[in-house]
Amino acid sequence: MPDQTLLAPEHLQTTAPTELWLAGRQTASSTGKTFPVLDPATGDVIARVADASLEDATAALDAAVDAFPLWSASSPRRRTDVLTRIFELVRERTEDFARTMTLEMGKPLAEARGEVAYGNEYFRWAAEEAVRIPGRFGTASQGNGHMLMTRTPVGPVLAITPWNFPLAMATRKIAPALAAGCPIIVKPSSDTPLTLLLLGEVITQAFAEFDVPAGLFSVLPGRGSAAMSEHLMSDRRLRKVTFTGSTPVGRTLVRQSAEHLQRTSMELGGNAPFVVAADADIDAAVSGAMVAKMRNGGQVCVAANRFLVDTSVVEEFTTGFLAAVEGIHQGNGFDDGVTLGPVITGRQRDEIHELVEDAVAAGARLLTGGEIPEGPGNFYPPTVLTDVPADARILREEIFGPVATITTFDSLEEGVARANDTEFGLAAYGYAGGVASAQYLTENLQAGMVALNRGQLSEPAAPFGGVGQSGFGREGGTEGIEEYLDIRYIALP
Ligand code: NAD
Repeated sequence: MPDQTLLAPEHLQTTAPTELWLAGRQTASSTGKTFPVLDPATGDVIARVADASLEDATAALDAAVDAFPLWSASSPRRRTDVLTRIFELVRERTEDFARTMTLEMGKPLAEARGEVAYGNEYFRWAAEEAVRIPGRFGTASQGNGHMLMTRTPVGPVLAITPWNFPLAMATRKIAPALAAGCPIIVKPSSDTPLTLLLLGEVITQAFAEFDVPAGLFSVLPGRGSAAMSEHLMSDRRLRKVTFTGSTPVGRTLVRQSAEHLQRTSMELGGNAPFVVAADADIDAAVSGAMVAKMRNGGQVCVAANRFLVDTSVVEEFTTGFLAAVEGIHQGNGFDDGVTLGPVITGRQRDEIHELVEDAVAAGARLLTGGEIPEGPGNFYPPTVLTDVPADARILREEIFGPVATITTFDSLEEGVARANDTEFGLAAYGYAGGVASAQYLTENLQAGMVALNRGQLSEPAAPFGGVGQSGFGREGGTEGIEEYLDIRYIALP
């Protein structure tokens, strides 16, 4: 087993490796450089992590290329067994994963445990799917031959993941890639590399037990994300890039993929509307709103950014929502009863605050929150704004924090038109009581995912992804594995 480094203050008892996972080995960066990882709740340095170099990236790709033929030719059942073993090992170490995530990302421990369970389900789902990768057989249209359609793995994959769900945003990529027969190199966010370094330990163990080539999986934390992705994508042996993060970075990666025509999946930013119709159950809408807005401190790509409420029910909705928001207990995610942690960095907190100040200056009314508290840590209070002018930046940009805006509409048609007035199209939420208004919402809200009378929609068995500036490609469900498969048509007599 690799060396482990005690990360947290002793009472937290969280361990994770701090060096690169390069083809089954923990190694220092070839440059010897490291970078600090901070606890967002205190600002303390909790670890120094190896800063992967371009040479390390090349070594990981070499290993991936070497491992590919054996793994892509392995039986589906063997892939199932390996993925199932990873699932079991992650489950056994739930507490280690949860504590590591709370430490480096700040989310409350209960939410971190939830993420472990949710993120790990991608391994179980992919294990079950590995034996069900479909093909097709048919007769040529003129009757003069037959056609066989099969799927082949795309080849070595680069995955670049964000900090908001340090485990789940990566398992959505790693599990289907391995199920499809592909090697994968993961570049975690430099704000939260420890969770994936811990996953590297688990995957290495599972690979060793099954005698799987270790080069299938590498983890390369580093601060030079742009240089590393450019370097790896300039190598035509890399065949696929899967990215979760902001839209501007996604655009850069798509441009870079043009040179060698690497396939890309882009899970980008969102600006989700949450529409409450006049006939909605308002208590249910308030509960759903709390989940859609405040889960993970609002640092969720599918977080409700804009609450649009029918004028006839806005008072009832706002009263209920405000009461629920005022019941939030903010603090260190390790403390009992805490339901809201800090945001990831001081910079992120300042950006959230700027959006709030801009809205207030434009005439929005602040019902609660809106002030940066004194003291250490990147805390931003739960904040609610009403009467927000339609052209305020906060309605156009992703907030990525615990800030809710409430505006009103006089007809469902107007509400939906305003909901759709965004360049993003990741998720949309609708609350309605009657069949007609429910159907109107599900048919007319423009997004890759629409939730009806529910505040949460992420689900390993469903295709997660967006339209418009929220990107393309899907993660989860049978569709999620297709992202790592090419189609081969074989013409037969
Ligand atoms: P980000 O785009 O800044 O960073 C994401 C990852 O890309 C990190 O690993 C980062 O190190 C790396 N990166 C940064 N610049 C790069 C470059 N030029 N080339 C290559 N890699 C680069 O995003 P973030 O702040 O970490 O995450 C928040 C964003 O992610 C939000 O916009 C959010 O909506 C989005 N997100 C989307 C989904 C989804 O599934 N659609 C899920 C979670 C988060």
